[in-house]
Amino acid sequence: MSYEDVKKVWMNGRLVDFADAKIHAFSHVFHYGSAMFEGARVYKTKSGSAAFRLDEHIKRLYDSCKIYRMEIPYSAEEFKAAIFDTVRANGFEECYIRPVVYRGLGALGVNPFKSPIDVLVAVWKWGKYLGDEAIEQGVDVCVSSWNRMAPNTFPAMAKATGNYLNSALIKMEAITNGYTEGIALDNAGRISEGSGENIFLVYGGRILTPPLAGTILPGITRDSISTIARDAGYTVVETAIAREMLYIADEVFFTGTAAEVTPIRSVDRIPVGSGRRGPVTERIQKDFFGLLSGDLEDRYGWLTPVPVESTVDS
Ligand code: PMP
Repeated sequence: MSYEDVKKVWMNGRLVDFADAKIHAFSHVFHYGSAMFEGARVYKTKSGSAAFRLDEHIKRLYDSCKIYRMEIPYSAEEFKAAIFDTVRANGFEECYIRPVVYRGLGALGVNPFKSPIDVLVAVWKWGKYLGDEAIEQGVDVCVSSWNRMAPNTFPAMAKATGNYLNSALIKMEAITNGYTEGIALDNAGRISEGSGENIFLVYGGRILTPPLAGTILPGITRDSISTIARDAGYTVVETAIAREMLYIADEVFFTGTAAEVTPIRSVDRIPVGSGRRGPVTERIQKDFFGLLSGDLEDRYGWLTPVPVESTVDS
């Protein structure tokens, strides 16, 4: 990944040069992980650049901040305008969007109330998160020895930077052992989610996914895929799922803004189904990617046009 083509970052109402996009060493966020963030994408569709479900991403950011008693000093509309300004200032037709709300330079000590709420929007070009071939070929994953956060410890519904220390443990263990990604269980031993993805299983003709019960992030792709799958005639059930279902499922796939819809071809070296992308996953990918490219009609109104005529100084 390279950030060479990133020109501007939006910080507290101003577009600053990439080189100046810095945070003070005494900032609360750096010492105590006190930041909420989002990850959204702008796609280059047939009718121009468009952000996928941007309002829902902004809503989740406000929700995360509400859980952590952080008041964002901008309205959702202002936030959206800042995102558009940042994409435009970088001249990207297609990119990943990373808004962050964090506790800045005030007073160190656990009490966050004494540090101001700062806001930034970063954008960059980000390709296929789990590898270029992953979308077709699928990925090899393991069940992590690390559990996801238990309910009422770190609120999983908040997309807080601190939660990603748990994600990093899952990811490092997976990579160290030769897997692309890890699947975490919850503290009751049921399937939770990947380090940065939600998970779906196809079993006995139905599509299963873990419920929003305090151990998973309410993924926007998860919601989109449930909707697309139901509209395609599948039954989607949110239910507690035993670990061993991963080994006997016909198909398993991840969803996420970065991972999009990525098939899982093996879990703990046991092939999933035939060991390659299954027909349900392929069908859902087709509908999902068709919508994002503009080949299929945006019948849910999920795409927001981004005016990207470049304001980059040449
Ligand atoms: N779970 C975790 C832990 C994540 O980091 C992500 C990525 N944001 C997801 C699930 C998927 O969420 P979304 O589809 O909204 O990107």
